[in-house]
Amino acid sequence: MTAVLLTLRRRDDPEPPDWRDAALCAQRDPDLWFPPEHSRAARAKAVCRACPARPSCLLYAFEHPSENGVWGGFSERARLHAGRKWRAGVSVEAIIAADNARFRARTERDRVKSRERKARAKKARARSAARAALADEEEVAS
Ligand code: SF4
Repeated sequence: MTAVLLTLRRRDDPEPPDWRDAALCAQRDPDLWFPPEHSRAARAKAVCRACPARPSCLLYAFEHPSENGVWGGFSERARLHAGRKWRAGVSVEAIIAADNARFRARTERDRVKSRERKARAKKARARSAARAALADEEEVAS
C-alpha cells in the first residue's frame, strides 16, 4: 500500500528540487570547504555568503552535527556555537543574518584600520620629507 501511494505521489507530484542543486560549492574546488585545522576558510565562507542554498545547507549541518568542513558559511567550531542557538529556538535565517552582520562589521573595521594605517604612513613620510628639507636648508646656510 505504501509503495503504491509513493508511486502515485511520485507520478503526480514530482520531488521538489534538492537544495544541493543550487549549491555554489558544487562548481568549485571541494578542498576549500575542508581546509586544514585552524584555517579561517575565508574563501569558502565568501562563496557560502552568496549561495542560495545557504539556509538549507546550514539546517542540514545542524541536523547532522558530525559533518566536518564548512557548511552554510560556518566552520565546525562556529557551527557548534550556532547549533546551540538553533537548538534553543533561534531560526537558521536569524543565525545567518547575525553572521552576515558580524562579517559586515568586521569588514568595515578592517577598512577603517587600513585607512588609518595609510594616513599614519602618509604623515610619517611628510615628517621625514620635512626633516630632510630642514637638514638641506641647514647645510646650505652653514
Ligand atoms: S552554503 Fe556553502 S557549503 Fe552550503 S551549499 Fe552553499 S556553497 Fe555549499
